[in-house]
Amino acid sequence: MQIQQPSMQVKTAPTNLLGHDRQAMAALFAALGEKPYRATQVIQWIHQYGVTDFAQMTNLSKALRQQLQTTCEIRLPEIAYAQQSRDGTRKWLLRLDCGNCVETVFIPEANRGTLCVSSQVGCGLNCSFCSTGKQGFNRDLNVAEIIAQVWLAVRELSQDGRHDHSVSNVVMMGMGEPLLNFDNVIKALDLMLDDFAYGLSKRRVTLSTSGLVPQMDALSAISDVSLAVSLHAPNDELRNELVPINKKYPLKELLAACKRFYRDDRRRVTTFEYVMLKGVNDSDEHARQLATLLKNVPGKINLIPFNPFPGTQYERSSNTRIARFTDILMAAGLVTITRKTRGDDIDAACGQLVGNFSDKTSRRQRFIGAQLPLETVAAGEL
Ligand code: SAH
Ligand code: SF4
Repeated sequence: MQIQQPSMQVKTAPTNLLGHDRQAMAALFAALGEKPYRATQVIQWIHQYGVTDFAQMTNLSKALRQQLQTTCEIRLPEIAYAQQSRDGTRKWLLRLDCGNCVETVFIPEANRGTLCVSSQVGCGLNCSFCSTGKQGFNRDLNVAEIIAQVWLAVRELSQDGRHDHSVSNVVMMGMGEPLLNFDNVIKALDLMLDDFAYGLSKRRVTLSTSGLVPQMDALSAISDVSLAVSLHAPNDELRNELVPINKKYPLKELLAACKRFYRDDRRRVTTFEYVMLKGVNDSDEHARQLATLLKNVPGKINLIPFNPFPGTQYERSSNTRIARFTDILMAAGLVTITRKTRGDDIDAACGQLVGNFSDKTSRRQRFIGAQLPLETVAAGEL
């Protein structure tokens, strides 16, 4: 007797168009036999008008809308928790599909609104003063999860009904090392700069890195965003301790990459971030070493008062120490500003973002991961 098998219907998951950059969107509509301008229209609906329902995309034909509805979706992470600081800083904890959470922070200022965006769940680079680094690494965010942070912030802020509350700047300074999630970060940055998506100026979108030299060169070749480098120490011995990736890419190589970064655009400079750790990297001698180190590198210095977190051995330098450190750098002709600490009452300040996830890698693996060549890293094999 022949047993009849029940017919198996394989249902494919809908494609989330939230993370489609211009190229991916153009490819989708080409495959559907549609005109290229459909890509622009849909990017505009999603990112400029905040529409997530294809039925509302009224300049698309009814047939196309129906087709998109059956095969695609526009899906955002859920806001698991939202907090607002005394100083107006906002923090959102976003729950991703896998149940992990990442954090996004909005910092309103008189003349701008800066959104601090995460690129990974955790970070494997293990900088000794960073709370995210201490949590370990879980996984890279996909393009949709990165750009969703901008989409959700714009929507949440527009609900405030305040014109002075909008995203004018983005800094890739949330959880994770953006250059270790290279391909996805590049696509999300492209959407931030795209005139039909968020239309942010290249000077107002900044990527911060702990100093992955090959990836910095790759970024310079394909993107116009601004660069911030987490320096934190004026010599290799101390930087090896604070930022372990320095053992792979020491200061000489890192600063050479900074000099190459803007290619021929001499008007643009690198921002060097320097966390002020009491008794560790904040002496007059450190300031003098830093001035010598940066003498011929076009850049400005951003001093960040250390933001403490439970279990850390570090303390924040005093205001007088930070002022003295600044004086030495300024006297040497280096533009130096101290970043205001914002949102620390809700743990939203630099280095305090921890999200909610489990570390999937041992410390040793994490460091080896950081040393993989660019091709491997870009292929998402970490
Ligand atoms: N991984 C990237 C971007 C995320 S960290 C990088 O390291 O550049 C963003 C910034 O916060 C970096 O300059 C980082 O060094 C700084 N930071 C990390 N922990 C900090 C802390 N506890 N206090 C102050 N700044 C911190
Ligand atoms: Fe990672 Fe940046 Fe934190 Fe270092 S400072 S552990 S690179 S997030």
